[in-house]
Amino acid sequence: MNIGVLALQGDVREHLSALAESDVLARPVRRPEELAGVDALVVPGGESTTMSNLAINFGLLDPIRKRIADGMPVYGSCAGMIMLASTVLDGRPDQESFQGMEMTVRRNAFGRQVDSFEADVAIADIPGGDFHAVFIRAPWVEQVGPDVQVLGRVASGAAAGRIVAVRQGNLLATAFHPELTGDLRVHRYFVEMVRQAAPAR
Ligand code: GLN
Repeated sequence: MNIGVLALQGDVREHLSALAESDVLARPVRRPEELAGVDALVVPGGESTTMSNLAINFGLLDPIRKRIADGMPVYGSCAGMIMLASTVLDGRPDQESFQGMEMTVRRNAFGRQVDSFEADVAIADIPGGDFHAVFIRAPWVEQVGPDVQVLGRVASGAAAGRIVAVRQGNLLATAFHPELTGDLRVHRYFVEMVRQAAPAR
């Protein structure tokens, strides 16, 4: 199984290590030829406006959109969630996304004064109790289409109930960063999604 991590910008190394600890040798993807060699992709956290620019400059925007339309599994964390959304609020006007998930996300939704915070998130499909989740200038999901499954919401505090984990078919997104906390359950869940999606070879 070949999983790539989009390596234009953001916390690429942390995702590569989280996948390695989940027993998958993942590789960085920077060019269309490298994209063609992977079965699945992780879009890291970082800065979605920069990632959008770089994806255009590196000729990856359309190839990734096409792979997504063809069913490639993708997991996006934070900026990666924004990159998967069909509609982005509070984005830059020229900001592009890879599309794929019918949802509206709001950038920096938890408030600019609160750059980062931690909260517990209950994820429906993942056993083992709440996630202790780290949010860094994170988006939340404001609206979802009929095919989007809400997997997780903030469990308590001012943002209680906000949608922060979603899935639509082979696409998975979290507003938080499991790659930074050593809790590998989201990565393992994604690896299992990839396994189930992989055509028998
Ligand atoms: N605020 C960033 C953006 O809009 C996302 C932050 C993150 O990925 N930690 O892209």
